[in-house]
Amino acid sequence: MDTDVLVVGAGPTGLTLANELRLAGVPAVLVDKLPQRSTLSKAGGVQSRTQEAFDQRGLLEPLLATGKYPDGTAHFAGLTLPLTRGRHRHPWRSIPQVVIEGFLEEYLAAQGIRVRRDHELTGLTQDGNGVTATFADGGVLRSRYLVAADGGRSTVRSLLGAEFPGRPGTVTTVAADVRLGGDVQAMTHARSDDGHWAAVFPLGTDPEGRPLRRLSLGGPGRSLPREVPVTEAEVREGLRAVFGSRVELLELRYARRITNAARQAARYRHGRVFLAGDAAHVHLPIGAQGMNTGIQDALNLGWKLGAAVHGWAPAHLLDTYHTERHPVAAAVLRNVQAQSLLMDQESTGHPDLAAARDLFADLARLRAVQDHLDDMLSGMGIRYPVPGAEGQPLVGLPAPDLQLGPIRSHELLRRGRGVLIDPAGRFAEVAARWPDRVDRAGQGADAEPMLIRPDGYVCWAGHPDDLEPALGHWFGAPR
Ligand SMILES: Cc1cc2nc3c(=O)[nH]c(=O)nc-3n(C[C@H](O)[C@H](O)[C@H](O)COP(=O)(O)OP(=O)(O)OC[C@H]3O[C@@H](n4cnc5c(N)ncnc54)[C@H](O)[C@@H]3O)c2cc1C
Repeated sequence: MDTDVLVVGAGPTGLTLANELRLAGVPAVLVDKLPQRSTLSKAGGVQSRTQEAFDQRGLLEPLLATGKYPDGTAHFAGLTLPLTRGRHRHPWRSIPQVVIEGFLEEYLAAQGIRVRRDHELTGLTQDGNGVTATFADGGVLRSRYLVAADGGRSTVRSLLGAEFPGRPGTVTTVAADVRLGGDVQAMTHARSDDGHWAAVFPLGTDPEGRPLRRLSLGGPGRSLPREVPVTEAEVREGLRAVFGSRVELLELRYARRITNAARQAARYRHGRVFLAGDAAHVHLPIGAQGMNTGIQDALNLGWKLGAAVHGWAPAHLLDTYHTERHPVAAAVLRNVQAQSLLMDQESTGHPDLAAARDLFADLARLRAVQDHLDDMLSGMGIRYPVPGAEGQPLVGLPAPDLQLGPIRSHELLRRGRGVLIDPAGRFAEVAARWPDRVDRAGQGADAEPMLIRPDGYVCWAGHPDDLEPALGHWFGAPR
C-alpha cells in the first residue's frame, strides 16, 4: 500500500476528511486535479452544526479570526426567518466557501499535509485488499480505502458505475457576485408581486475593502439554458424587477446559471470506496446546504475509516456511514425541492402557488414552525438511528456542550476520540477496557452520564447496564 486512505478532491468535503484522518492518526493522501485552489465563490454560509463540529476540533476560533463574518439571515424559500436566535451556541454565519477551503488547506499544510495538486484521477480498480487509482499523468497509487470527494460530476462515481438516481435540472437561476449600491436595508430576500425574486447575502469584501454580495435572481422568463452567458443588462433588469430604483448594480464580478437538478447516490459505500459530499448528492444550492452536508459527511466517515485502519472497527461500523448519512442528504433534497417550488423556480406558473406561498409565510410566523425549520437548516436536528436506544432523548443527537469544571465537553473532542462523561465516577473500570479509544471525563460535574462518539454524537445515555454493549458496538472489542 502507498497509503491507507486516498481522498480524491480537495473541496470542503475532502479537506475536512483529510483533517479527520490526520486526527485519527491515519496516513492519507489528498489529491486534486486543479493546479491551484479555485477562487470561485460558491456556498456562502456555515450552519450551527458545522461550526460546532469545527469548535470540537479547535478550528472555529482561528477560522473566525481570519475576517469579519456576520450572523447571516437564514431563509426558507426566500422568506427571511428569525432562525437560530439563541437556540444554538453558534448562529448561522456568512463565511464564503473560498475562505473555508483556504483556511482548511493552510491548516493542513501547517500539520505537514499538502494537497497533491495537478493530480487528476482517471482510473480505478479494487480487490479484496485495496484500491488502485491511476492518474492522468500515468501515476498509480494503491490504498486500502478511497473516498470520492470529487464533486457533483464525480469521476469516481462514474468509474464505479454507481447508481445516481434523481432528476435532471428543469430550470436555471442566476447566481452572481456583485457590488451593489442604494438601499442596503432592501437587500435581502425579496420578491415582486409578479413573481420575480432576488436573494442577497454578504460575501466579505474586495481587496479595496468594499462589500461584496452574492445575488441570486429568478422568476418568470429568467430560466435560460445553462450555457447562455449571464449579461450585465440581465442582472440590472433582474434587480430592477424586484427593487425598482432602490438598489443599483455597481459591479458585476462573476455570474453563472445554476440548475435545480436533484440526485443522490443509491449507495454511499462500494466495497472499499466511499462517496461523500457533492459526489454523493447534488441539488439546487439554497442555503449552503451542499457544503455543510459534505463537511458533515466527512466528519461522520473520518473516525470510522480511522477505526477500520487501526483494526478495531466492529464489522458494521463502516456501513453505518451510509445508514446515517444517506437519510440526511435525502431530507436536504426534499427541503430544497419544496423551497424551489415555493420560490416558483420550477416556473410552474400555477396560479394557486401564490396562495400556497402566502399560507406558508403565515405559518412561518409561528414559533413552533420556525423552530422546526431551524432544526432542519442548522443541522442541529440531525438524529442518527441508534439501535435499541429509541425513545431516549439524547441518544443519536449532537452532544450538548457541557461545562465540566474548567473545561467544556466539546474541547475534549479535540483528540478525535470517544468521550465518556462519568459524573459519579462509577465507570472507571469499564472505560479502562477501551483506553486507546475513549477518554473518561466529568467526574463530579453536574451532568448526565453519556458516551459521545468522536464526531460529537451521543451514542449512549441510558441504563448503566447498556454502557458496555454500547462501547463494544461503537468502539469494537475491548483491548
Ligand atoms: C460553481 C459553483 C457554485 C456554487 N454555488 C453555491 C451556492 O451559491 N450556494 C450553495 O449552497 N452551494 C453552492 N455550490 C455548491 C457547493 O459549493 C458544494 O455543495 C460544495 O462545494 C461541495 O463540496 P465538495 O467538497 O463535496 O465538492 P467540490 O467543492 O465540488 O470539490 C470537488 C473537488 O474535486 C476535484 N476533482 C474533481 N474531479 C477530480 C478528479 N477526477 N481527480 C482529482 N480531483 C478531482 C475538483 O477540482 C474539486 O476541487 C456551488 C458549487 C459550484 C461548483
